[in-house]
Amino acid sequence: MLHTCQLITKQKNKYDRDQLLQSKRNMKSLLIVDLIIITFVLSSARRFDSAKVFRVKPQNEKQVNFMRNLATVIQPIDFWYPDSALQIVNQMEVDFLVSADQTENVEALLKDNNIHYEILFQNLQEDIDKQLDNKRNSTCKHSYTKYNNWPQIYSWITRIARKNPELVSRIKIGNTFENRPIYLLKIGKQRDAKKAIFVDCGIHAREWISPAFCQWFVKEAIRTYGKDSSMKNILDNMNFYIVPLVNIDGYVWSWTQDRFWRKNRSNASSNACVGVDLNRNFDVLWGTVDASKNPCEEVYCGSSPESEPETKAVTTFIHSHLSSIKAYLTIHSYSQMVLFPYGYTYDKVPNYNTLNGLAKGAAKAIASLYGKKYKYGASASTIYPSSGCSDDWAYEQGIKYSFTFELRDKGKYGFLLPESEIKETCQEIMLAVKFLANYILNQT
Ligand SMILES: [Zn+2]
Repeated sequence: MLHTCQLITKQKNKYDRDQLLQSKRNMKSLLIVDLIIITFVLSSARRFDSAKVFRVKPQNEKQVNFMRNLATVIQPIDFWYPDSALQIVNQMEVDFLVSADQTENVEALLKDNNIHYEILFQNLQEDIDKQLDNKRNSTCKHSYTKYNNWPQIYSWITRIARKNPELVSRIKIGNTFENRPIYLLKIGKQRDAKKAIFVDCGIHAREWISPAFCQWFVKEAIRTYGKDSSMKNILDNMNFYIVPLVNIDGYVWSWTQDRFWRKNRSNASSNACVGVDLNRNFDVLWGTVDASKNPCEEVYCGSSPESEPETKAVTTFIHSHLSSIKAYLTIHSYSQMVLFPYGYTYDKVPNYNTLNGLAKGAAKAIASLYGKKYKYGASASTIYPSSGCSDDWAYEQGIKYSFTFELRDKGKYGFLLPESEIKETCQEIMLAVKFLANYILNQT
């Protein structure tokens, strides 16, 4: 059964869509289009009844090859960790989603090949329904301890900038493929501070804790300015550029159609498959390591570097503010890691020791609050090699402090981290960001 709030969400999405289309179409055709959209949205959200998520840890190369081939034998398989079958290596914990009608086949194949497995989710739909576990009121108001849909985030962005003109300003940096406005919130006391940290959230649609963190960060920065001397010092001398949600179209899709959607919603390729992995679309060794040229893959890198408007919005803004941006932070989930370049090669960056020390400090700050252990290190060796990623791209532009955060958890809930964990997760990451900000302020 559809949750009341989800129904309202869908109606709000329709409203959002109305707003976007209004300038382009006349009312008559708009009403017809929207009628089709409502019917489609309300009737076709993908369900995951009895779908399972498996965890396997290959013990040798034969098992690695078996796992890599599994996706070609059984379809569809959605890899949760790593992002695609291409990245599986020996001794890596591999989490993957299998639809209900294929789970018996997968179990039989795993048993035949003597591969040990555990089942993380027995009935995924039940866990999807459980994720929104913080109490809701009937109006579905924006809340920092709940997952907010795009219309809620959109009005929050507008409201927070309007209510805090001394500290916050809203800047539109581009439009998504489906023509939604991508906003950035500039936080800081000085209009032209010499230093800035750029933070983006929600590059991957299904990682809902990521945009939740960006919203939390903005709220906490404003709330503690004037109360906490360290935050005051940071915001008096430095700006934050926060993009609360980069991949808006994908996020909307993950709310209304497919909870585990990852890519954007570009359908520019002639192929029937939709979406580009924005974190493979940046212009850094594009399309080489762990990126696919096949539009049907989860790690499809797009038709060319920066082919996607969402990527372009981020890179254009960063390019035009390169002189002040000292650090780049990009927020993802899940797996609890603090990562830094390179991702596309095992070679060490020139300032490896500094970045490793900072990542270690960030992990220590995180652990100090609730004891959560985050791994840290260079992306290629800590997680797996990949190309066209935003952190490598930022680093190559000269932003020498570039980090990817993979937030909670380690797979118990995966992308379905319950709302009851939003607050703790955001609090611990907040400490890490403040730690990095103090370093940037004092040492660069
Ligand atoms: Zn991600």
